[in-house]
Amino acid sequence: MNEAQKAYDALIRESREIARLASIGSLLSWDEHTYMPQGGAENRAEQSSMIARMVHERATSPKIGEWLAAIEASDLVRDPHSNIGANVREYRRSYDRATKIPAALVEELSRTEVLAQQAWAEARKQSDFLKFAPWLRKTVDLKKQEAECVGYQGHIYDALLDPYEPDETSANLRGVFEGLRGPLVDLIERIAGSSRKPPVELLERTYPSALQEQLARLGARTIGFDFDAGRLDVSVHPFCSDEGPGDVRITTRYDEQYFGDAFFGVLHETGHALYEQGLPKKDLFGQPIAEAISLGIHESQSRLWENLVGRSKSFWEHFLPKAKDVFGETMRDVTLDAWHFAINDIRPSLIRVEADEATYNLHILLRFELEQAMLTGDLAVDDLPGAWSERMQKYLGITPPNDAKGCLQDIHWSGGSIGYFPTYTLGNLYASQFFEQAGKDLGALDAQFAKGEFGPLLGWLREKIHRHGKRYSARELVKRATGSELSAKPLLDHLNRKASELYGV
Ligand code: ZN
Repeated sequence: MNEAQKAYDALIRESREIARLASIGSLLSWDEHTYMPQGGAENRAEQSSMIARMVHERATSPKIGEWLAAIEASDLVRDPHSNIGANVREYRRSYDRATKIPAALVEELSRTEVLAQQAWAEARKQSDFLKFAPWLRKTVDLKKQEAECVGYQGHIYDALLDPYEPDETSANLRGVFEGLRGPLVDLIERIAGSSRKPPVELLERTYPSALQEQLARLGARTIGFDFDAGRLDVSVHPFCSDEGPGDVRITTRYDEQYFGDAFFGVLHETGHALYEQGLPKKDLFGQPIAEAISLGIHESQSRLWENLVGRSKSFWEHFLPKAKDVFGETMRDVTLDAWHFAINDIRPSLIRVEADEATYNLHILLRFELEQAMLTGDLAVDDLPGAWSERMQKYLGITPPNDAKGCLQDIHWSGGSIGYFPTYTLGNLYASQFFEQAGKDLGALDAQFAKGEFGPLLGWLREKIHRHGKRYSARELVKRATGSELSAKPLLDHLNRKASELYGV
């Protein structure tokens, strides 16, 4: 066997062990957010940081750099889309990023993260941005240093976008997002002016948690979640956690006075889980080609099931009778049309995580624009609340009454996650693009949903997206699956259709 092949085999072995270690960390984190008693918090923090340290040490070991160099000099990587070609490209990407940032900066970033999050939580409680401002300034400064260490070709933002959305550029996103903004502002204004109002009262009746859970489990199973390879539990903030081959866990929370949270939340997390369950981890665990390509693609899978499937009329043609069976008297008078309208309540609101599928994107555009401006210095951190309000007014026609409901609402920036927000809207854009193409390829999706058949759509996603892992970049994947580049049109078409059908505008 030649040296390059030996190096590749060693790299794969090492990478599988590192992935096992990381999956232990993931399981610890899942437990922390679901079942761990409060008393375990301190030891859990020690356990988690110990695992994280072990993962980091092994992933940045010089021997990985030597193996990579030996493989890259050989013809093993001739085909960039072969297993080896794709794996080595992605190993190189993560190895370079991890080794280019000096240990002192990594430490400073993680120390600042802990303190900044504490300051943020306190500032949010008191709705006082000034208490968080020094920490945000420091975070922005450290992230700029990080960007300089890893390097970038175009905008400094690209260096921070890269770990979440590899190969994407802020210039490309700016172009697509700008094409989205005007039509979206216009659409939301038209909807706000419509005399038709959704009967949201239907969602605000008393829905007992145990029954919500029963229906949520049925929903997850019906669209394809494998409960032999996953779980559903309760946590304060819903998430999907991949614990390695054969084990993907999702969580939700139940609000007895509101139907929407848990059910659509579970469809959302199930979408993430279906992606994880569809990656070829059984044989290729630990290799990049068995991992999700980007956060935007991940989010496209959750949004597709939550919004494009879960908020469609045909889905409820199948599901409303089942919901009525579960909730009995509470839902007896609910009609399909009224329910479909109620779950598609589109209206401007202050809080991103509560926003509907249309207004949500304007919340993201605002954050995307402001974080770029803070990085370049065009916006001083102290001026953030004002800039936030100004944009909220311009995009959604409302102004937050205080900082807690404005620029202090999200945890992201306090945790150093600058460059993360656009992946949410990317998810919405990709989801619509995939869904439109799946409809063309599979025909009459609505007729299938109405009969409770979701297998063909899942099969399409498995074939076009899931099984490829990181073989293709997100941009290539979209091009291959849909024949076109990232575009705002399918999402706008979808929302316009909905607005016309439900709101008559
Ligand atoms: Zn998500």
